[in-house]
Amino acid sequence: MRKKIVAGNWKMNMLQDEASQLVNDIIKEVKSTNDAITNEQEIIIIPPFPWIPDAVKQVDGYDNISVGAQNSYHEPRGAFTGEVSPEMIKSTGAEYIIVGHSERRSYFNESNEFLKQKVNAVLEAQLTPIFCCGEPLETRESNKQNELIEKQIQESLFHLNKEQISNLIIAYEPVWAIGTGKTATPEQAQEMHHFIRQLIAKKYGDTVAENIVLLYGGSCKPNNAVELFSKNDVDGGLIGGASLKAKDFIEIVQSFN
Ligand code: PEP
Repeated sequence: MRKKIVAGNWKMNMLQDEASQLVNDIIKEVKSTNDAITNEQEIIIIPPFPWIPDAVKQVDGYDNISVGAQNSYHEPRGAFTGEVSPEMIKSTGAEYIIVGHSERRSYFNESNEFLKQKVNAVLEAQLTPIFCCGEPLETRESNKQNELIEKQIQESLFHLNKEQISNLIIAYEPVWAIGTGKTATPEQAQEMHHFIRQLIAKKYGDTVAENIVLLYGGSCKPNNAVELFSKNDVDGGLIGGASLKAKDFIEIVQSFN
């Protein structure tokens, strides 16, 4: 059975005190709602780099709460001023790294080829990439979303072997839904997740496809998570805005039926 995952991408938000308060609030919410997370579920907290080590310490002892990073470079070390390697992130105790968020693709020009190298580096460090793919509005309006997602996945992931692809999470995040308040309908999300699972099945076989975790991201909130998560191929969410409020975030975590 696939794990149900809700990951909170804080983006470039929260000062140090606020960050530690938010992690504490998330833990408090989990404790106060007995059924907040089951053994098949996992919460991933993804704060900005400087707050990762504290977050890791704070969630220590909570089996179903992990910490991740929002980005990393593809080299393990060296003269790359300002960059952070997967090894460094691993040494803090974090376990996941987002690769290819649409904000990285658009503001920092990260190409499919460059993201391929990042995916390799994250796997090399034995961490789990959360690989993001998604189409901009024009692509959806011209009904070319499947071609674009296929290209993103093929060019950044299809060099991996079965074992490597099995250690990766894919997040489908339509660009037009990120931070806009405009969510994909549950049917649109299901349709794309099913398409992605089929792509994986064609290349790697049914077992790999059945086991790969596919998250939906894009204005996922407490009021729409239940319907989104009720779809067969939606295994949870990558949450931006709503992950900054512990109550909302945990309500989303509780949205699996
Ligand atoms: C995101 O940044 O990955 C995201 C899905 O943001 P939001 O939930 O705010 O749309």
